[in-house]
Amino acid sequence: MEKFDVVIIGSGPGGYIAAIRAGQLGLKTAIVEKDKELGGTCLNVGCIPSKALLTSSDHVMFARKEAAKHGIVIDNVQVDLPKMQQRKDKVVRTMNSGVRALMKTNKVTTFEGIGTITAPGKVSVKSSKGETQEIETKNIVIATGSAPIELPFAKFDGKTIVSSTEALCFTEAPKKLLVIGAGAIGLELGSVWNRLGSEVTMLEFLPRVAIGFDLELSNLLQRLLTAQGITFHLETKVSAVKIDNGRAIVTATKGGEELKFEADKVLVSVGRRPFSEGLCAEKLGVEFDERKRIKVDNISAQISKAFMRLAM
Ligand SMILES: Cc1cc2nc3c(=O)[nH]c(=O)nc-3n(C[C@H](O)[C@H](O)[C@H](O)COP(=O)(O)OP(=O)(O)OC[C@H]3O[C@@H](n4cnc5c(N)ncnc54)[C@H](O)[C@@H]3O)c2cc1C
Repeated sequence: MEKFDVVIIGSGPGGYIAAIRAGQLGLKTAIVEKDKELGGTCLNVGCIPSKALLTSSDHVMFARKEAAKHGIVIDNVQVDLPKMQQRKDKVVRTMNSGVRALMKTNKVTTFEGIGTITAPGKVSVKSSKGETQEIETKNIVIATGSAPIELPFAKFDGKTIVSSTEALCFTEAPKKLLVIGAGAIGLELGSVWNRLGSEVTMLEFLPRVAIGFDLELSNLLQRLLTAQGITFHLETKVSAVKIDNGRAIVTATKGGEELKFEADKVLVSVGRRPFSEGLCAEKLGVEFDERKRIKVDNISAQISKAFMRLAM
């Protein structure tokens, strides 16, 4: 059984940064990742691909709406979506190999498979081929990230009712896209598809978009996106999503009034939940709060602060 000083489960920004630092500090380090590629949500299906599409769609908007004002004549602007998606995938792949190279440089051993904590200091890794490997370690870092939240009445089917993961990979711009949840992810992807030709409607339960931001900023954002063609319904509660002949019929209420919407695709972007399935940490006394987040104590908080200080 191979022995390590620290085993990190999950290779997102939380996990791979911790692995790099542990390696730099001379600890014998391993990282366990269940997906084929390293980098987690952020690199594979989050920050990076969404920014790649935002950049490309921003160029489209510039060519269509702004270029002429600068005296630049661009006739007949067309979108080659497969090529745009290929560029996005290439950006992601380049960064995947960057993370892999960082693991190598910092002498971090990579294990591909689902990491399960079987006992204190013991991690078993089950690969996609079904092979299991046991590893022993003095310390374990849990960095298993999050997954999109599903609405009970609108289960993801990957085709009509989708999460951000599928909305990053549409092969054509949906004619009508309905976005449930006007937080950062919904706003980003709503903007992308609006710029690429979809008619985008956003339904938000709260009284304003991007609720975590300053009021001034969220008002400005809503005004700008409305000017770009997105329709917003705030203080609107979605209660049902039905599929009829491949199209979604969405029922919502706003100020006591029932509203109905039809869409080709519905993006549910109502937040993310902690992901700890298959980890088995509960059996070992790891405590979770009511939202299934791992409770950290002062020592863990100090360690993560120390990691952050050292990593800067
Ligand atoms: C569309 C979108 C856009 C975003 N844009 C931004 C942005 O612009 N800026 C920003 O700061 N944040 C952004 N985020 C959020 C960002 O992606 C997350 O905050 C970040 O990825 C969290 O990092 P993490 O390491 O905690 O988890 P993750 O990145 O989720 O990584 C966790 C990893 O653990 C692996 N894993 C889980 N369980 C196991 C197991 N048992 N065994 C082995 N591996 C396991 C998972 O496969 C995953 O690779 C965005 C998210 C999305 C979805």
